[in-house]
Amino acid sequence: MFNSRLDPNQRENALHALETQNFDVLVIGGGVTGVGTALDAASRGLRVALVEVNDIASGTSSRSSKLIHGGLRYLEQYDFKLVREALQEREALVTVLAPHLVKPVAFLYPLHEKIKDRTYVGAGLALYDVLRGFNRALPWHKHISQKSIAAIAPSLRPDIVTGAIKYFDAQVDDARHTMMVARTAARHGAVIATRVRCESLIFEGKKVIGVVATDTVSGKKINIAAAVTIMCAGVWSDELHAKFGLKAGYEVRMSKGVHIVLPKSAINSQSGIILKTPTSVLFVIPWNNEWIVGTTDTEYTGDRNEPLALREDVEYILNQANRVLKPKLSEAEIIGVYAGLRPLVSRKADSSTSKLSREHTVDRPAPGFVSIAGGKYTTYRIMATDAVDIASKELKRAVPNSVTDKLPIVGADGYLALMQQIPALQSESGLSAATIEHLLNRYGSLISEILELIASDVSLATSLHPSFPYIKAEILYAVTHEGAQSVDDVISRRTRLTFEAPENAETLVLQIADIIAPALGWNKNEKQLSIDEYMAIVHREREAVASLFEDKSAVNS
Ligand SMILES: Cc1cc2nc3c(=O)[nH]c(=O)nc-3n(C[C@H](O)[C@H](O)[C@H](O)COP(=O)(O)OP(=O)(O)OC[C@H]3O[C@@H](n4cnc5c(N)ncnc54)[C@H](O)[C@@H]3O)c2cc1C
Repeated sequence: MFNSRLDPNQRENALHALETQNFDVLVIGGGVTGVGTALDAASRGLRVALVEVNDIASGTSSRSSKLIHGGLRYLEQYDFKLVREALQEREALVTVLAPHLVKPVAFLYPLHEKIKDRTYVGAGLALYDVLRGFNRALPWHKHISQKSIAAIAPSLRPDIVTGAIKYFDAQVDDARHTMMVARTAARHGAVIATRVRCESLIFEGKKVIGVVATDTVSGKKINIAAAVTIMCAGVWSDELHAKFGLKAGYEVRMSKGVHIVLPKSAINSQSGIILKTPTSVLFVIPWNNEWIVGTTDTEYTGDRNEPLALREDVEYILNQANRVLKPKLSEAEIIGVYAGLRPLVSRKADSSTSKLSREHTVDRPAPGFVSIAGGKYTTYRIMATDAVDIASKELKRAVPNSVTDKLPIVGADGYLALMQQIPALQSESGLSAATIEHLLNRYGSLISEILELIASDVSLATSLHPSFPYIKAEILYAVTHEGAQSVDDVISRRTRLTFEAPENAETLVLQIADIIAPALGWNKNEKQLSIDEYMAIVHREREAVASLFEDKSAVNS
């Protein structure tokens, strides 16, 4: 009945629908909470629209550690309910909801003091496993001797690491998953419009009956009518509450988290690594042909739209990782850096951000208006359900319960079988087994749509660049099916080349723009503008880190 395709035509239709239809639910914000909320509401049979000011997942939801986890650190805060709930979500995502996107990942927890550490950490990880329960897709934790570490993770310093415990969590390409949830919402009838900014609320008496929004591409104002509006604006929540003249029952504090990206060759380990730091934990996370290492946790009050990594952030990460790694990581090895802002629901003005709970808060500051913030990526589905449950009370009719715990996201259907049919897919498409596997782990059963593009133009089967697994069809597909509308959308979120490729993939920018330009109907000038827009972002990011590196070399010389 409905289609999951997001493309320029669909956007035009969505803009028309926003102006002409009456919605049950309007969602503000296209991060994982917003798209999850749109999916939850649409799959309950409600008429739903979602507006996102920029691109899907352009806020925090593309800048996380990309872990689907219970959060080991919350065990130390005795927050067992939070951990159990998140572990349940992890299980559902890995097995039913998104097995094509959410994958198990192993971590080593290095031990230093032989008996004390092994007892304490071992008990913690046993509890972590037990909180998940016995019906589980991920293996149980395992004790590793110092001798075995030399084989599993030669990069861990043998002089200070006396053993380790290996445990499992899961990981996801956050921006890709968020976009796929948005597509699933569209498949269930949600009207999704990106590059539409919510400006103000429309009131009837004290009740919110819709919003005034701007199509940021044409500048056109749009009045959207909705029985209830749900704001899922993450770190923009306070700003929007104030702009809308609403007094919310919570505040959102921002905590900046930075990650650095290094080539696989920088660390010799078959597993990820988790390290306890003085304030939190540091993850060394395997990622395709790279490692993602982070994160930091510092109070932030700057520009929400462009959190930038600074040298002190990068130095902190290197210093913490280098406590246990041999050879030490160096600045010169870093391929990419990214920063994101955690939306932390603030309950006490004087509490430090690293002690704040990741639990979410749903509020109803006005009739017809619900807002939700906090939580973490892993629990987006629960947040969405809570928000829609509360919003449903505004609709003067019975609303069915959420079904998203049983609703696979697009591409999940048939994925496990297709993984066993790689040879058949190979002979049908002429692609290598490695490319088929890469595609299945990004699109699941939607691989058929990529293969259709290749069938109509065989040149799309070729690699974008020999160093990366992406083929040209994926770049085109990003704009014909995944709602990308700019070079930045494709390089930063549909692919992750912005941090996977050296120099933010600068050498691939023109090639990518050439592939997407015809599908977006761009002339030469529009293509150049999109390239310039991406390069301007990259230059600001480089300046924030690089100029500081330059400073340092001046001091050292
Ligand atoms: C460094 C870091 C590491 C993390 N690691 C993990 C992890 O490993 N695992 C985990 O579970 N969680 C993790 N998190 C937390 C997780 O990423 C966030 O909780 C989650 O992504 C928040 O999603 P959101 O949708 O609430 O916010 P966002 O993704 O920020 O979405 C809000 C959206 O609202 C839009 N918006 C704002 N104003 C308007 C407007 N006027 N009109 C329309 N749209 C608007 C924004 O553009 C934005 O896209 C991490 C967070 C950070 C910062």
